[in-house]
Amino acid sequence: MTQLTLSLRDISKSFGGVEVLHQVNLDAVGGEVLALLGENGAGKSTLVKILAGDYTPDGGTIVVDGAESAELNPRSARRLGIRMIHQEFQDAGALTVAENISLGRWPGRGGVISWSRLRRRAEDVLGQMGVDIDPGATVGSLRVGERQIVEIARALADDAQLLILDEPTAALSQQEVDRLFEWVRRLRDRGVCIVYITHRLDEVFELADRVQVLRNGDVALVSATSDVTRRELVEAMVGRDIGEVSRPADLGAPTLGEPLISIRDLEVDDQVAGLSLDVSPGEVVCLYGKLGSGTTQVAEACFGIRRPTRGQLRIGGVEGFPSSPVDAIRRGVGYLPPDRKREGAFMNRTVVENLAAASWSRLSSLGVILARRERSAYDRWSGKLGIKSADPTVQAIANLSGGNQQKVLLARWLERGSNPLVLVEPTRGVDVGARQEIYSAIRALSREGQAVLVVTSDYEEAVQLADRVVVMQRGRQAAEFAGDDVTAQNLTIAAGG
Ligand code: ADP
Ligand code: MG
Repeated sequence: MTQLTLSLRDISKSFGGVEVLHQVNLDAVGGEVLALLGENGAGKSTLVKILAGDYTPDGGTIVVDGAESAELNPRSARRLGIRMIHQEFQDAGALTVAENISLGRWPGRGGVISWSRLRRRAEDVLGQMGVDIDPGATVGSLRVGERQIVEIARALADDAQLLILDEPTAALSQQEVDRLFEWVRRLRDRGVCIVYITHRLDEVFELADRVQVLRNGDVALVSATSDVTRRELVEAMVGRDIGEVSRPADLGAPTLGEPLISIRDLEVDDQVAGLSLDVSPGEVVCLYGKLGSGTTQVAEACFGIRRPTRGQLRIGGVEGFPSSPVDAIRRGVGYLPPDRKREGAFMNRTVVENLAAASWSRLSSLGVILARRERSAYDRWSGKLGIKSADPTVQAIANLSGGNQQKVLLARWLERGSNPLVLVEPTRGVDVGARQEIYSAIRALSREGQAVLVVTSDYEEAVQLADRVVVMQRGRQAAEFAGDDVTAQNLTIAAGG
């Protein structure tokens, strides 16, 4: 199979007189996964849109297989086999899976579409991928992860040479991420070049052969993944020395009271067995484990999403498993789900409405929500948590950065007065800089009397946040560390490698 080599040279691009890419280079080589990293606004999406022919650069050249090519437009990019899976879905939600897979290259003759061939093509490629998605289902009815798979199927059916994925895993479950990665690797092994945009460093090391970091429209680093450390990547992203992943300096002894979460010998189906832990006001306890280790199930049991099969759970001063999220909320539990886009935020509602959402009974009078009270709820928390929103009463939460969205969702529970807090992957999809702000906010809240359980698959998060860390491996409690023993090394070894 021929392999595409495509190079962008000295590419610049401005929007409204502001240059957002300054003479950027990028090499896309067949048979290789290139991770493109960078904070929000670094220019990643703009750069790959140029690669896909969606945007015309203001300056620079594009070299395809050694020949300088005057321009890339959507059509020429398509002819070269360049396909992009956008950050925001652009697939036609009303089309069926089969139609989507053949989008733009309908089988048939003389303008007459052969529906049977269309369906067969879809069945072939989905069958080849071993996925069970009905070719007749409308794309709009699929889960995000399934949509990604359909997009991959389309790239396969299309013989894509260069596949661009723009932050594909932000809204996927771990199982879906695993499946996506498997497909990315297979495509690579067939000689396809994959340009993979992500926020997550573990994904870079898991998947990428090479990594390129953008910062403020400049290339900050290009390297083989095997030649670079996490720390170097983070520093290239944020542009300053972040130091070793270290425990925060102010980690004084917390003042503790009666535990607000108390778990004994918890068993959840065959996914969690024999887990015990306590979380008291004044401390941050991290439940750390690799994805699939059972940590999420524990969080879900605390919020009444999942019913444990055995054990004891006392939460918010009430004995027994919460029977539902409503029950958990009544007991005072605040919960940040791992996937804020699907479960946490009302994406097209305003920032203020999102913040007030758990407190409507208090912020309303005779059933009418008082805008003034909602707004003052925002003012109570925005300064403290550092929420940045241009106009919180008008701006939809969807338009905030991931970090700001998380702060709003956290403020939702604080406004309600919830305690304890159960935060699942609180900084997933959040910039390195905003991550530090969220960590300090969580630590400060704990010192003011919040009991905080953080469920995370990111050991750096545990190291930077936790007074204590309970480590899970394969559904079982593997170790517990406190104080100086909370180190990256101890945690990763206990979690199984
Ligand atoms: P990233 O994907 O790394 O988060 P983007 O490429 O989306 O970054 O954005 C880079 C910069 O360009 C940002 O400052 C963003 O606001 C700006 N930008 C991106 N697309 C447009 C556009 N269509 N119009 C105006 N500004 C844009
Ligand atoms: Mg982007």
